[in-house]
Amino acid sequence: MLNPIVICPDCHAQEKLDSVLTAQSNQNVIYRCKKCGCEIRDIQTSKG
Ligand SMILES: [Zn+2]
Repeated sequence: MLNPIVICPDCHAQEKLDSVLTAQSNQNVIYRCKKCGCEIRDIQTSKG
């Protein structure tokens, strides 16, 4: 499985996608940085 790296736009911490993204039932995805705790909604994934 692909497990790309995402970079927090706030603190620039690099985390594996699986560990920082939470999939919602409505197919939205929430990014939550473990380092600074920021949350970003409606992440657009690169999945085809
Ligand atoms: Zn961060």
